[in-house]
Amino acid sequence: MGIAKIDYILCTGCRICVDRCPMDVLRIDSETGKAFVKYLRDCQGCFLCERECPESAITVMPFFEKRIPPAWTILPDVK
Ligand code: SF4
Ligand code: SF4
Repeated sequence: MGIAKIDYILCTGCRICVDRCPMDVLRIDSETGKAFVKYLRDCQGCFLCERECPESAITVMPFFEKRIPPAWTILPDVK
């Protein structure tokens, strides 16, 4: 679960989502002034950020994501 999208055109950088997120997932980018997902794996899919965003800029995905593990976690084929 997690944030599927933050629409950077709609986002005004108001910080409401950053302050509301109970898992401390979001941050404001110092260069763009827009919200971004800093710690995606900590997101619990609670929808608070999506619900509270005054610009409706956030879309939360309510499904478990199928993540591709990095190559170094794949065990070698032992014969
Ligand atoms: S609440 Fe919405 S408009 Fe405000 S910073 Fe977050 S995404 Fe941007
Ligand atoms: S869905 Fe909940 S946990 Fe995930 S980023 Fe939004 S407020 Fe944080």
